[in-house]
Amino acid sequence: MIITQKQAALALRLLEIPVSADNVRRVPRAKTILDERRILSVGMDGADRLYKVVGTEVYDVSMNHRPRCSCPDAQSHDYCKHGIACMMLEFKLERAAIEKQEALEADRFACDGEEVY
Ligand SMILES: [Zn+2]
Repeated sequence: MIITQKQAALALRLLEIPVSADNVRRVPRAKTILDERRILSVGMDGADRLYKVVGTEVYDVSMNHRPRCSCPDAQSHDYCKHGIACMMLEFKLERAAIEKQEALEADRFACDGEEVY
């Protein structure tokens, strides 16, 4: 699927990442990483969530508000495609959890509007 610049900018805004030309270019690359399931969640370090992301090499990404990645691009920029991919993954998982919670709530009140349990 081709991501337009407008969609890329929207994704950046949702993730609260600055909408720069560089970051807009990183979004489709990050989406490919996500779609190809190249992110492995490997645990926690305090409040940081740790991931391994398969790119040219395997990079370490730690997430806490902002991603920190071990790739060369991340050494000179705040955001790289691996970090953005991890942010997309967390956003997706949060959304899925909220939808599941809403579905459970809807079930609970399904019986004539009375609480079932
Ligand atoms: Zn990176």
